[in-house]
Amino acid sequence: MSVIDVYTCYALAGAGSLIGLGLILLVRTEHPRIRRALLLYRAAFLCLSAFLVVLVTPPEHMREVWRHGVGVCATGVTLLAWGFRELNGERTPLSVGLLISIGSGCLLWFGGGVLSPANYQILVAAVLAGIAVGTLLDQGRVLLRSPESRLSGEWALLFTALLFSLDWLVIVVHSWDHPGPYPPLLLLAPEWLTGPSAMGIALLPLSVASIVFAIINERLYQQLHQRSLSDDLTGILSRRGLREHGQRLLSSQPAESLGVALLMIDIDHFKSINDRHGHMIGDEVLRHVTQVLSDHLRDGALLARYGGEEFTVMLPLQAAEDAQVVAERLRQVVEAHPCQTGTGMISVTISVGVAFHHPTRPLEEALSRADARLYEAKQSGRNRVSCERLPA
Ligand code: GH3
Ligand code: MG
Ligand code: MG
Repeated sequence: MSVIDVYTCYALAGAGSLIGLGLILLVRTEHPRIRRALLLYRAAFLCLSAFLVVLVTPPEHMREVWRHGVGVCATGVTLLAWGFRELNGERTPLSVGLLISIGSGCLLWFGGGVLSPANYQILVAAVLAGIAVGTLLDQGRVLLRSPESRLSGEWALLFTALLFSLDWLVIVVHSWDHPGPYPPLLLLAPEWLTGPSAMGIALLPLSVASIVFAIINERLYQQLHQRSLSDDLTGILSRRGLREHGQRLLSSQPAESLGVALLMIDIDHFKSINDRHGHMIGDEVLRHVTQVLSDHLRDGALLARYGGEEFTVMLPLQAAEDAQVVAERLRQVVEAHPCQTGTGMISVTISVGVAFHHPTRPLEEALSRADARLYEAKQSGRNRVSCERLPA
């Protein structure tokens, strides 16, 4: 006989659901997919708090009241599974989601009224096993798609779904084989499994809340990190993004390659564009120049906004004189493509400084040499390219 009191575990599950609901209410996010999932978790935890009925129900009415409680809890567990699908980016049509979640609750509520205790016991176990196995398969499919880029919270969810699936599948088989008597608390598990199963139910809400927190936290961190690598105004890499993606590009260069060149690009007399046309038009010109530059850069080159009206290109070299040619072409295309704004055409030119990165030296060093070359291009009249000699 298990020393764990199953009704106490149910009460803990109810209390844990209220704590889970409180925790979920604390999450703030603008992300639409995560917001939808959070809405489902709120509804799920609210349903699962129905476990608390065992605290207020006199023993003689337990069987009848618990039947209603089980229905609501099944809806809660289905809503949790639906929430995980949303979090994984798998859309469930609203009608299907509502049909399954409310349907599973109604099925158990109705089954409790018409089925024999033996069949009701099997039905409860089968519905819960079905939800657990469904979540396991869903999560397994999502993780198999790209196992290396998945989050640790998603593996924790897979593990939890696996444990619940095994637990409830054993209970289904046991309920099927077992001649009775059927306990009103509806947990007809083998002797050795009753305690762990009851504990699993008690811990389910808080385990789910922790997994949801872990997944959302990792997602939001990734989103924030990604945002910090890109420039708000133009959408290309920021200076920080250039450093991170640049290091990756450098380490992917084959040993026998010619290395990379750094092009420091600055819009000429940009301040006077702002002064004459206003800051908003200045922003439009920045986006326009970004577009022209990225349209005329070959694949594999990185374009970043280094600051204000300065851009940097990291260019893997295909030939010794490559950098000068590319820089000159960029200068020409920017000059040839004036910016069409609401207040008319604005001609734009750029000056470009070019330096070569030495594989053994820090990237910053090549950037400051490119900057010195840019200064030279400005000094010698603007709208021109100044390129250092390719080191022998
Ligand atoms: P030079 O040919 O020597 O480069 O002259 P310049 O006017 O382009 O250079 P300067 O450094 O004097 O001015 C750069 C201007 O860029 C000043 C600043 O207000 C403007 N600027 C920086 N960031 C932004 C931005 O995000 N939007 C707009 N509209 N202007 C910006
Ligand atoms: Mg400048
Ligand atoms: Mg400038």
